[in-house]
Amino acid sequence: MKLTDRTPRDIEMQFLGVSSFLLRDGDMRIMVDGFVSRPKAALVRSIQPDADVVGAMVERLGLATRQSCAERPVGADRLDAILAMHGHYDHALDTPLIASMTGAELIADPVVRETADRTRRLYPELCPAERGPDIRVQDVGDQQVLSYGDMTLRLIKVPHSDNPASRLLEALPKNDDWMFPTRAKNLKEGAGVAVHITTRGGNILIVPTAGHIKDTLNRPEFSAKILFLGIGGLGWGSRRDALEYFHGTIVASGARYVVPIHWDRHAPPLVAGQDGLPIPLYENLDRSLGLLQDYANKHPQFELVSVPVFTPFNPFSSLSTKERL
Ligand SMILES: [Zn+2]
Repeated sequence: MKLTDRTPRDIEMQFLGVSSFLLRDGDMRIMVDGFVSRPKAALVRSIQPDADVVGAMVERLGLATRQSCAERPVGADRLDAILAMHGHYDHALDTPLIASMTGAELIADPVVRETADRTRRLYPELCPAERGPDIRVQDVGDQQVLSYGDMTLRLIKVPHSDNPASRLLEALPKNDDWMFPTRAKNLKEGAGVAVHITTRGGNILIVPTAGHIKDTLNRPEFSAKILFLGIGGLGWGSRRDALEYFHGTIVASGARYVVPIHWDRHAPPLVAGQDGLPIPLYENLDRSLGLLQDYANKHPQFELVSVPVFTPFNPFSSLSTKERL
C-alpha cells in the first residue's frame, strides 16, 4: 500500500445524538446540527436553547470559545463552520448559539437566520453569530457546494419525512413575532438538505430525514463510503415507502457502511460517560430497524453498523471495530 492510500489519521467524527455531528479533517472542523439542549416534551411545551447545556457541550468537545466579538478563535481547536440540515428544533435549536459561542460561521437559510436573531435576543450578552454562506437550494435535487480546507460540502435539497409530528409542526400557523421560549411550531423546516462531505479519507453522506427521496441522490458525485441514515418516523410508514427510501439512499450512494440515526428520544441532554441513547416509545423503532435489517440481509454490499456517542471515531479506518447492530 502506498502511503497516500492510507486513511489520514486525523479524520474524526463525533456523534451527539439525533443527527448531530462534529467532523474534523486535518485542522478544519465542521458541525452539523449540534442539537444538544434536548428539551423535555418539546412538542407540547415552550423550548429554548439552553446556554448552560450548550456551553458544557462545547467545552466537552474541546472547542475554543470566543474571547471577544472582534475576533474569532484561530487555534487548532476552533470550530470553522456549522449548519443545520433543516429548521426544525431537533436540528436547529442550538445551531446559532453554538455559532455565537465558538465564532464558527453560520451556514443558514432564512429560517435558521431567524432562529439566530431570536437566539441573540435571548442572550444579548453573547456575540452575534458570524454570517457564513446562505443556503440557497430551492427544489429537490438542487445542490450547493462549499469548501472548507480539504473538505467539500455538498448540500442537497431533499424532501422531509412525511410523519404526523412534522406535518403538524409545518401545518400549525407560525407567529412571525415569536421570541424564545417558544413553541416548536415557530421553527419551520425551511430549506431541508442532506449533507455530502468529501474528505481526504473518503466520502460521507448524512441524510437526516426519511422523505420520498426517489432518485435525488442517484448521481456519481453523491457516492459515499459511509451513510448516516435518518430513520425517524419510518416505522410508521408503509414497507414499500421504506424500501424505496433504502433504495434511494443506500443503493444510490453505493455505501459500504450504513449507520441508522435520528431514532433516539430527543431528551434529556446527554451526560458524561453516557453509553447509548434513550429509546423513544413513539418511534416504532423495532419495525424500522427490522425493515432495515431485512434490507441489509438481501443486499450484502453494505453492512449495518452503529457508532458510539461522544467517543471520537474515524469513519473510514475504525469501521471494522464497530459494534454490529
Ligand atoms: Zn424535521
